[in-house]
Amino acid sequence: MDELETKLREQIVDVMAAMDVRGLNRGTSGNVSARFGDDVLITPTGIPPSALKPEHIVRMDAEGRYDPAGMKPSSEWLMHLKLLQLRPDANAVVHCHSRFATTLACANKPIPALHYMVAVSGGPSVPVAPYATFGSSDLAESVCEALAGQYAALMANHGQIVVAPGLRQALLIAEEVEEQAAVYWGTLAIGGATLLGDDEMTRISERFKSYGQKKK
Ligand SMILES: [Zn+2]
Repeated sequence: MDELETKLREQIVDVMAAMDVRGLNRGTSGNVSARFGDDVLITPTGIPPSALKPEHIVRMDAEGRYDPAGMKPSSEWLMHLKLLQLRPDANAVVHCHSRFATTLACANKPIPALHYMVAVSGGPSVPVAPYATFGSSDLAESVCEALAGQYAALMANHGQIVVAPGLRQALLIAEEVEEQAAVYWGTLAIGGATLLGDDEMTRISERFKSYGQKKK
């Protein structure tokens, strides 16, 4: 295994640990993947973040093949693989069942433009991908469609999913989606949010883009 692959495996383990610490996940429910050349590195199924090691990460080719002697990949591997194939702009996928995002997803409520930080999702709102059984190709398709032009989406009766240029960015977006989901949930309890207009959300999206370029 070359140094780059080892480093990327370590980063995936770090993101899983960070999701655990930040309360984005419980147990073994979250999964993370990253592009590695033509292959994908993805978290294994059934290993809690506290026990996860770089050597547990599964390397999968474009057809979904992996070493049968090693760990089995996450049950959501098809969703990760398809997303990375469909999105050349993305190199990382983070999926989790964070509480408030999942609450809204179970109520089939997209997160509207209630705060300017909603724009980190890549659009003026965070849509809900229609429900399909976990691990199914229908779910992979539903999620790919909802994420067209977006970094983040909720998954009906399931959780949230993020694609991003890098692992760290994907983690930060997932964290922000959870925060905005919590804020939206709170506003629903006190009569609803006052929303920002489309013009303002477009302006904010543009500012986020140039902010990202400056940081490079
Ligand atoms: Zn899931």
